[in-house]
Parts: sequence; structure tokens; C-alpha cells
Amino acid sequence: MPAKKVFEDNDLIILLYETNGNIAECAKTLGVAKSSIHSRIQRTKNPELTKAYLKIQKMKEDAANLLNKKFGHRLVIGKGMTDENGRQFWVCECKCGDIKEIPGSYLLNGRSQRCTKCNLIKHGMKDTPEYFVWCNIVQRCCNKNNPEYHNYGGRGITICDEYRYDFLKFFTDIGKRPSENFSIGRIDNEKGYEVGNIQWETSEEQTNNRRITLKIDGKNISCITLSKKLGIDRETIRRMANLGCNMNELERYPTLDWRQRRDFFKQKECPTFSK
Ligand SMILES: [Zn+2]
Repeated sequence: MPAKKVFEDNDLIILLYETNGNIAECAKTLGVAKSSIHSRIQRTKNPELTKAYLKIQKMKEDAANLLNKKFGHRLVIGKGMTDENGRQFWVCECKCGDIKEIPGSYLLNGRSQRCTKCNLIKHGMKDTPEYFVWCNIVQRCCNKNNPEYHNYGGRGITICDEYRYDFLKFFTDIGKRPSENFSIGRIDNEKGYEVGNIQWETSEEQTNNRRITLKIDGKNISCITLSKKLGIDRETIRRMANLGCNMNELERYPTLDWRQRRDFFKQKECPTFSK
């Protein structure tokens, strides 16, 4: 039972608790019940654990009022909105004058110490194509006044917080653009710009992924989504689509490779595939 392991491993609890300051998260990470961590922290005579507990309590108190506090380049100048998860945002002014709302937890754990512009000056990335791409994504997903918003944010395509508030995290994940023929694409078109769902792709790949769709229950499904669903590689689906085979047939013969399928489907009429 993992619960027993937790009781022996104070250091691990301290580490986890100090990192995320949240008992529920600790318990989730360790795979144990929340109550077992609770009782561990409250009953313990371990001074390190008590210290960690007090530190987190203090952090929580601070979180309640961050006003006028400084975090790196940022000075908290006002209380901001609360998001749907109850997360408190704070209005911060960067040394350079940039004003933005930042989640309190990002300030407290040091994840957001300066604005993006200052970060990029620090890291020498302000004039890179990757930064330009990132700005564009944030704009078209989050800025209602952006002319492209209706095609992105307006259609429910989002950028996750990890990327939105941290260009460097985004850049670390996606890497340098291989060449100027590449632009950013979403691996699964039904998901947003989120961790694990972005890649550099050529415009040809993008066109193929968008163009090859199947209508299922009146809904268009992209080549990529289909590829994941059926466990058949994208290229096969693209070729089969060009040959005019339909969803049911793709599903029915998943073990054939694309050449076998081609020969098989060549003899048939398959009207339901739409491009
Ligand atoms: Zn700044």
C-alpha cells in the first residue's frame, strides 16, 4: 500500500508540500487519500514537516494579500479577477511599465518574475520568429479584438495557461522553427494549443490534415483525429481518402497496409468520404 510508504517518507511529503502547497495535489501525486497526508502533517512531531506546514500557511496568508509586494521585476498594484477554478489573479506592474494580471500562485512560486518582454530581453529572444508565432497564438485565442479571434478563441480554441503566461515554456517544448516553411500546428485539431498538442509543420502537412476529413454523424473529423482513433498512420488515411474509401471500411480492415487497402478499395464505390 502506498499509504504506508508515505508515512515513512517525511522528506517526500515536505518536498511535495513545499513545491505545490496543496494537500490534495500531494495526495494525488503519492496516490494516497487526502486525509492520510492531513493527519500526517497535523500529528507529526517532525520539525521539518511542521516548518514546511507553517511555510505553506504563510504562503496562503500572503496569497490573500499580495498588494504592494514585489516579485522579481513585478510589483503588485491591485487585486485582479478570480478564474473559474477560484484562482486569484493580481494586477502587476513590471519594471518596464508593462501591466498584466498574473495568478497569485505564479508570483509566489517564482514562475513569473518579469513580463514577457523583459524575459525575452534577458534571454535574447525578443526578435525571433518563435516569439512572433507565440504572440500571434495568444492574440488570436485570447484577444477578442483580434481580427482572427472569431476563427480561434471565438470557436473555443484555447491556449493553455502554461503556454500563455510563459513563452519560454512554450519555446522549450516546441523548439526552434526548422525553417521558414514551417508554421505551428495542433496535432489534434479538436484540442487547443496545449502541452503535447503543438508541433512545427509544413503548410502542405497542415493543408492535408485540414482538408482530409470524414463526415461522421454530421461532424467533420480531421485526418489526424481519425489516425489516432483508428491507430492507422496519417499518410495511409490520406491516401485512402484520396482513393475514396469510407470510415466504416477503414475501421473494418485496420490490419491491411495502405497498398493492400488501395487494391481492395479500388474495386469499390465508396461515396461517403468527403474532402
Ligand atoms: Zn517588463
